[in-house]
Amino acid sequence: MDNTRRQVFNAAHSYVTPKIPSSPKLIHASEDIATELGIDVEDLKSQKFLDLFSGSKVHNKTQPYAMAYAGHQFGNWAGQLGDGRAINLFEIVNNEKRWALQLKGAGETPYSRQGDGLAVLRSSIREYLCSEAMHHLGVPTTRALSLMLSGDEVLRDMLYDGNAAYEKGAIVCRVAPTFIRFGNFELFAARQDHKNLKLLADYTIKYFYPDIDKPSKERYIEFFKNVANRTLDMIIHWQRVGFVHGVMNTDNMSILGLTIDYGPYGWLEGFDFGWTPNTTDSQNKRYRFGNQPNIALWNLVQLANALYPLVEDVEPFEEILNKYKTNFEIKSLDMMRSKIGLHTKQKNDLNLIQGLEDCLLSSETDMTIFFRLLSDYKKGKVEKGVATIEKAFYKPEEIIGKILEQWKDWFESYDQRLSIEDLDDNERKKKMNLVNPKYVLRNYMAQIAIDDADNGDYKLIDELFNLLKKPYNEQPDYEKWFAKRPDWARHKVGCSMLSCSS
Ligand code: AMP
Ligand code: MG
Repeated sequence: MDNTRRQVFNAAHSYVTPKIPSSPKLIHASEDIATELGIDVEDLKSQKFLDLFSGSKVHNKTQPYAMAYAGHQFGNWAGQLGDGRAINLFEIVNNEKRWALQLKGAGETPYSRQGDGLAVLRSSIREYLCSEAMHHLGVPTTRALSLMLSGDEVLRDMLYDGNAAYEKGAIVCRVAPTFIRFGNFELFAARQDHKNLKLLADYTIKYFYPDIDKPSKERYIEFFKNVANRTLDMIIHWQRVGFVHGVMNTDNMSILGLTIDYGPYGWLEGFDFGWTPNTTDSQNKRYRFGNQPNIALWNLVQLANALYPLVEDVEPFEEILNKYKTNFEIKSLDMMRSKIGLHTKQKNDLNLIQGLEDCLLSSETDMTIFFRLLSDYKKGKVEKGVATIEKAFYKPEEIIGKILEQWKDWFESYDQRLSIEDLDDNERKKKMNLVNPKYVLRNYMAQIAIDDADNGDYKLIDELFNLLKKPYNEQPDYEKWFAKRPDWARHKVGCSMLSCSS
């Protein structure tokens, strides 16, 4: 076992030893995923749990490893990347489900390049809370079992402005059926290592796409089709809840269509197709909200290129990629219909939805609050339409003149459209509230929890964790979190924009 940084050939992974943290401490553990894994909730507080999931001790007869992968970062080929600070501990099969458990921030691996293999508390809190929150929102995602302090200090230049400072180190145990990414396939393809490319594809299909039952080349086409469909489903969910990943590089694309690698992600506050939380991307905004569906397609093209040697025929890939585009149009429209409470399909629905988007863009409007309040709209009460949703406006004083007329016109069309639906107001509201979350992990919320945690107070982590377990429910005790981003948070670091430093 050798953690030295290097180029690794002819292998999908390297055996490594996690760094022993100096004084690990458990901050939080997810009882939900523990139960899925067959871990007794009582054991979460045990010394053994602390030892294993802080990287202090390696479990008997297991061999931790870091995976080799490559990737396209911000549109450019980046060569070998790999798990630079993620170490797979072992896999568990429970209730016939397979799970890989992985520590993030447990030290150097051959793939650490210029990094230290460590993670800071702030980014670990963000990953821990958001992975579980996304799961409860119904968005395909990797999960998080535990959040620990390492007891070690980690040097980071958070704003990339030459002011590096020490921060608390942390370790998150992430959980997923597998952490294989598009980039794992790209690595072998780029090196023309077709033997390992085939082994990896066969392994992935055998364990994670076991229903694929086709011979030879068709098998890989079917595999690609499944990945494309799952990726599309994930993207539709992101657009539905207003999640912006921030770093959709191909090394951050799960082969299972799971949201993976929570870095400078964010949630739309004001509805804005052009928004990205990632300061590193603020020039080109490649990974902006409205571009996520296109980027997923671009990434799928890279995966198709990587799988091509196994098929040696372009056409089936092209067909699947074209299908992605048409499927996106269909699914996206259906998703938006559900957000505004339409259950039948009518020819003009796309116009109605585009009209709404124009309204939302005309003056800063909180996406989460808007869609939640819209469910209170009562058929036939056009004159009360704007009042129903006005709490979603960041600048209510701007909702006058032309903008106000635009909103009124929209409510007029919406009301007409609702009149041909047979759901009553109550039924519509119930259905809408199942797809429009009331609570999401706004960056400022995570940031307050981070500031508290830096001072040794973890109560808010627990509060947000519990709040976000039921994002679609009314939770009167937590009503304060059903609020627009406060003004102080608009430009505060961590609350609106984030760098990749983590
Ligand atoms: P990310 O942007 O977090 O997806 O990371 C891109 C690549 O950089 C991956 O190969 C990571 O493993 C690696 N990386 C990121 N941060 C570190 C770090 N602190 N130490 C070592 N490798 C890192
Ligand atoms: Mg990554």
